[in-house]
Amino acid sequence: MNTFHNGVLIVGGGPVGLALSLVLSKYKIPSLILEARDEPTSKDESRAITWMPRGMEFLEWLGIFSHFNEKGVRRILHQFENQRGKLLGWSFDTLETPYQFSLQLPQHDTEVILEDIARKTGIVEIRRGHKVLGAAQTKDKVTVKVQSKEGSYELSAPLGVGCDGASSVIRGKLGIDKTWRDYGMDSAVADFEMECGLPKNISNIVLDPYRPYGFFYFAPRRWRFIYRINKGESREEATSADFISKLLKERLPDANVRQMLWASAFRLGQGQSHTYRKGRWLLAGDAAHAMGPSAGAGMMVGILGAWRLGWRLALSLKTHKDFSAFLDDYSVEQRVGASEIQNNNALIFRNIAITNLFLAEGRSLLIKTISNLSAIGKKAMEKEALLSQILPVDHSFDQIRPEGSISLKKFGKWVTGKRVPYILEETDFHPLRKMGLEHSLISIGRYQPEEEKRLFADIYKGIAFPVNKDLLIPNKNSKYRNGSQAYIFALVRPDQHIISIFKIK
Ligand SMILES: Cc1cc2nc3c(=O)[nH]c(=O)nc-3n(C[C@H](O)[C@H](O)[C@H](O)COP(=O)(O)OP(=O)(O)OC[C@H]3O[C@@H](n4cnc5c(N)ncnc54)[C@H](O)[C@@H]3O)c2cc1C
Repeated sequence: MNTFHNGVLIVGGGPVGLALSLVLSKYKIPSLILEARDEPTSKDESRAITWMPRGMEFLEWLGIFSHFNEKGVRRILHQFENQRGKLLGWSFDTLETPYQFSLQLPQHDTEVILEDIARKTGIVEIRRGHKVLGAAQTKDKVTVKVQSKEGSYELSAPLGVGCDGASSVIRGKLGIDKTWRDYGMDSAVADFEMECGLPKNISNIVLDPYRPYGFFYFAPRRWRFIYRINKGESREEATSADFISKLLKERLPDANVRQMLWASAFRLGQGQSHTYRKGRWLLAGDAAHAMGPSAGAGMMVGILGAWRLGWRLALSLKTHKDFSAFLDDYSVEQRVGASEIQNNNALIFRNIAITNLFLAEGRSLLIKTISNLSAIGKKAMEKEALLSQILPVDHSFDQIRPEGSISLKKFGKWVTGKRVPYILEETDFHPLRKMGLEHSLISIGRYQPEEEKRLFADIYKGIAFPVNKDLLIPNKNSKYRNGSQAYIFALVRPDQHIISIFKIK
């Protein structure tokens, strides 16, 4: 049996496996990706087309955003209509992020860019055409059986991650159960190369109870058309060229269609694994939590999960200490996070399913009413952009409460379990720039540098995992300091989530 020493074995080189290899490479941890397919997702099979702001922050952290920005087209508004006209438009410009848009590009481009950068790191090996048929583990290693054109072989490594998609072999071989939620309906996706009069920088969603549909521009001259497959229509019929052309002609009579690129039918359903960790094996991406295709969040949630997982794997391998509690926390936190998104998706799927005209009218009225409430729009967009997610960290291994301190859920815009707020304009640092494997302790309360440093030395003594030794002290004018009379500290993880906030009188 061959051994892959001191690195992570990743099964599946889709967007999540590739992203994970890049996170690990940031921490100088080698990885080996075994990928069954000879080629990335085909150019014409667009699949995941959306990078949300939180995903772009991840790309910025990796230092590779410009590669995506060069290829992508931007969407700045979400627009919902019914058969009679516009109901609501929610803009990305209310978001507190430098990325006040979503970036659209085909999954093919995402995979090609990630793979190219991963190979250039020199510490990511990608074996295409290598299919994993079996997976197991012992106390100190994971093992796989692999089939390739050159023959079959076995391989072991200290840690393994199954990023092998919704029908994960790894999940199956480990005996991890999955719950499948089915919404009793099919939807279809058809991609076109065409010119039409629709605005390119908004999502054009029409909540028509006879057949809801939407158009999304995602690459030069390329459009995605999504629509519900109605009861009585077969999936084959609803994705045939004749059916789609007729549907398109009815909705966009003036479109100049050059070619249809791809069409496929999908069940509206979502899968959830019962755990994302079993011993030395972890699950990430669709292998852990498969989102329904019509809600468009699967790749993003998976990639953000890889960000949350990467530092934990790196820490375990680098220190040779037992940081398995961190791996358990990944399983719990990411699972709750993914369930939250799935619950949002369930709402979207139920909306797609509405055929009753009376209900549809009620929905239009409701949407029109909330369209005037900017606070609701801001919250909805924060959710969509995956910026507002709060992870359940109360019982996590690194949730520290130093003696004599009082734990806080929140201080200003600093919220336990949430990503760190943007404070770039006010100070000369931001945790997004921190690339280390350590947590960062940030003073956000009373301004008194010497005393803050003394308190930090005390806090540091009680922490069992690496914390950046340079206490981060934003300047005294930072509005987060808020004229506070107490010393307040926030502990931030390498993936920029705030794990604890505590106050020392
Ligand atoms: C039509 C459609 C539209 C979508 N739109 C969006 C969107 O707009 N936004 C979004 O975020 N998500 C979207 N998604 C979801 C998105 O495509 C997936 O969530 C995403 O691809 C998951 O990435 P992954 O790396 O976890 O899994 P996958 O992309 O499925 O990759 C898994 C990889 O593992 C490989 N593999 C599988 N088994 C083995 C094995 N035994 N051995 C070796 N390799 C193996 C596969 O070949 C594959 O390359 C869409 C999906 C579809 C189908």
